[in-house]
Amino acid sequence: MINRRRLVDTFMTLAKTDSVSRRERGVVDHLAGLLADIGLEYFEDEAGQAINGTAGNLIAKVPGTTAGPPLLFCTHLDTVEPGNGVKPRVDGHVIRSAGETILGADDKAGIAAVLEAVRVLKEQELPHPPLELVFTVAEEIGLLGIRELDFSLVKARMGFVLDSDGTPGKVITRAPSQDRIVATVIGRAAHAGINPEDGVNAIQAAAKAIANLPLGRIDEETTANIGVIRGGQATNIVPERVYLEGETRSLDNNKRRSLTEHICQKMTEQVELAGARIKIEVEQIYSSFVLEPDAIPVQLALQAAANVGLIALTDQTGGGSDANVLNEHGIPTVNISTGMRKVHSTEEYILIEDLVNTTRHVLEIIRLTTLNEG
Ligand SMILES: [Zn+2]
Repeated sequence: MINRRRLVDTFMTLAKTDSVSRRERGVVDHLAGLLADIGLEYFEDEAGQAINGTAGNLIAKVPGTTAGPPLLFCTHLDTVEPGNGVKPRVDGHVIRSAGETILGADDKAGIAAVLEAVRVLKEQELPHPPLELVFTVAEEIGLLGIRELDFSLVKARMGFVLDSDGTPGKVITRAPSQDRIVATVIGRAAHAGINPEDGVNAIQAAAKAIANLPLGRIDEETTANIGVIRGGQATNIVPERVYLEGETRSLDNNKRRSLTEHICQKMTEQVELAGARIKIEVEQIYSSFVLEPDAIPVQLALQAAANVGLIALTDQTGGGSDANVLNEHGIPTVNISTGMRKVHSTEEYILIEDLVNTTRHVLEIIRLTTLNEG
């Protein structure tokens, strides 16, 4: 039923089309062409302007042939860097990049699988409920695209994001929330050799602020990190400013909140003891989600995986995805594996078999919902 060659071709062409975050115009135009060829109505929203990117999210609708609640399938269009000029290569059973770039199976494998599934549904005239296909921009830089999605266009009450690595059959049911912490430590500049006593060293103040923070793994569901530090100009100047960026994550929203608060408090205390000041901004990037084992999308994804011979299992992740925002909007959504491996590296690859299996998984999820309705 699945046209393997077409599936691989679709993936290869998507992979070759540049789409680093906020520069998705090319891939949106290409995908729009594919959707039109399949005969689907689609719509590009205003997210592009809102996030200062070149393109918005694409939303396509596949009218149902059976009644029943619409299903949402969500994938993202953007890639991390180095992501321009990808040269995907079929190497036996595997597809990888030429080595200088990522492959972009994250998340173009998901896009290719969804498109192939819809083509199969149409060609084989298989019964299916209404489907809503959402393709988002700027997922990799903080879920920016989906956060701007016009949810009044979404009727689905249940969703499947195809954006997890590992073997198809794995179903992510728990993902953390995340706070972004941006801080500027402000001391006072002075000549380091002539009048250092007039200065307040922002680098030293920042060092004290960070030195005793709880960082790394806090508990099995909570982590914290300071990931960026920048400051100072020259050895003969007492540094005036240091810029810090960090994050906290937890599967438990309350834990994340109090950890963020604790970190901000500690940093402020230490910086002030050093005679400097600190400006801190905290932004919650997304909420956590925890779906119970008996939630319908969990059950469907597991059952479908088992039915097509995949190893069906649930898992949790330390990363955020569009599923976080969909769940936040009251659409219970799992994140399923597409087979992509070593993502966000130039060694990224995917097995052709896993592209096929992801497509089979999607088709079986759809088929099961028609049985439930029947
Ligand atoms: Zn991804």
